[in-house]
Amino acid sequence: MTETVSAPETSSLRDSGGDLIIIGPPGAGKGTQAKSLAHENGWVQLSTGEVFRDHIRRQTDLGRRVKGYLERGEYVPDDVTVRMVRAKLEDISPSTRVLFDGFPRTVAQAKALDQLSGEMGRHIGGVLLIDAPREELVARLNGRATAEHRADDTPEIIANRLDVYEEQTRPVISYYEDRGLVKRVNGVGSVPDVTARLREAAE
Ligand code: ADP
Repeated sequence: MTETVSAPETSSLRDSGGDLIIIGPPGAGKGTQAKSLAHENGWVQLSTGEVFRDHIRRQTDLGRRVKGYLERGEYVPDDVTVRMVRAKLEDISPSTRVLFDGFPRTVAQAKALDQLSGEMGRHIGGVLLIDAPREELVARLNGRATAEHRADDTPEIIANRLDVYEEQTRPVISYYEDRGLVKRVNGVGSVPDVTARLREAAE
C-alpha cells in the first residue's frame, strides 16, 4: 500500500463561511475584481490601499503618516497597517464575510490577521490568487499611470512595487498554500473573463 501525504484539500471557498483574501501582484486587477466579487456575493470588501488613499485625501493623521510610503511604492509598516485593519474589523459583525483586498501583504501581517481573527471569532476561508506575467503587469501599470495619474505609477516606482511584491508578498501565498487555502486564477484576459474564472474558483 502506498502512503499518500498531501496538503489538505481545498474545499469550496463560498461554503467555507470564512473571510476571503484576494491576492496578486500590482496590476493584476485585484481591486476591480474584488469589487465585483464582493458586490455579487454580499461580502464586505476591505481594501487597505483604498482606505489609505481615502485617509490621504481627507488629510487625517493616518493619511499624513502613510502618504510617503504610498508615493514611493513602499509598504506601510506592518504595525500601522494591522492597527488600521483591526479598527475596521471591530465595526464588522463576525457573521459578515470580509473580502480582504491588498491585505495581508507580508507574512507578519498574515500572522497578525490569524491572531485578530481568533480574537474576533472570525476565520480565513480561502485565498484567491490572481497571477499574471511581469511584462503584462508592467504594461498595464504604465497604461494606468497615463490614465489615472496615480502618484505611485511612474516606471521606477512600478518596478519597485513589483520587486517588493516578489520579496514580501510571494511568501504570504506559501503561508496559505501550506494550509490548502489557495485557489490560483489566471489574470491574463478581459476583466469579465477573469471575473468568471474567479467565480468558478470560489465555487
Ligand atoms: P495595488 O492594487 O495597485 O497593488 P493598493 O491599492 O492595494 O495597490 O495599495 C496601494 C499602496 O498602499 C501600496 O503600494 C502600499 O504603499 C499601501 N498598502 C496597501 N495595503 C498595504 C498593506 N497590506 N501593507 C502595507 N502597505 C499597504
